[in-house]
Amino acid sequence: MPYVAGDTMVRHAWQEGYAIGAFSAHNAETILAVLEAAEAERSPVMIQIGQRAINTLGLAPLKALVDAYLGRVSVPVCVHLDHSRRFEQTLEAVRCGFQSVMFDGSHLPFAENARITRAVAEVAHALKIGCEGEIGKIGGVEDEIDVADEEALITSCEEAARFVAATGVDYLAVSIGTAHGLYTRPPKLAFGRLAELRETVARPVVLHGGSGVPDAQIQRAIGLGVAKINVDTELRQAFTEGMAGVLAENPQEYALAVTLGRGREAMRQKVQEKIRLFGSQGRA
Ligand SMILES: [Zn+2]
Repeated sequence: MPYVAGDTMVRHAWQEGYAIGAFSAHNAETILAVLEAAEAERSPVMIQIGQRAINTLGLAPLKALVDAYLGRVSVPVCVHLDHSRRFEQTLEAVRCGFQSVMFDGSHLPFAENARITRAVAEVAHALKIGCEGEIGKIGGVEDEIDVADEEALITSCEEAARFVAATGVDYLAVSIGTAHGLYTRPPKLAFGRLAELRETVARPVVLHGGSGVPDAQIQRAIGLGVAKINVDTELRQAFTEGMAGVLAENPQEYALAVTLGRGREAMRQKVQEKIRLFGSQGRA
């Protein structure tokens, strides 16, 4: 199966009532963990490339790694650029053959966010790939984006509707009570607002900060129109704990194939759990 455009993948999930897992990858092992999990579950999948990974390894090399391993799977795969704050970077991703790009202008004034997001959406649509925008501030720490909790306001329906009309994004990241990173207490999603947003924006909603949200809340959110769920922290945790397990057994295990291999295996299992929770298993 070749790459599939993000909008095609997410729209199908939205119409059928499941969600696409957008799993962050940081190196070859994490790319393989996501691909192997998707193949095992016969699930479509998004591999997310975020700003930290780009800063350390580079955008084009990471995309080339996914390209190199794509032949190992037969399920639909989409490579997505996460939280880009630069128009030029979204173009670079398009040139490298990403199937989905996100411009995050949530830190900008509304008009500026809408103007740049629209430009990104126009390029994406001309090339028949998916585009994600963000309205409302999502709390927490991710990719060097810090937002104080008090600023992490719930997205208003009026703003979301204006933003969608002004930009034409295919799927919309909103703030409904999740945060990036580790929760200090379980989040409570704003389901009432999510239900209102479904009516006003009439397109798939993206849930950021999916790690650590109780399963029942995830499933309820999918029922209310969430069709792409970003997961990063829980996967990095699983990977790191897998490696730590090896070192606990043998502190002098210096074979990276062994330590990284155990991390990859632990992450693959976690991705499979998420795929089943999101209902995308068997949808390839
Ligand atoms: Zn995010």
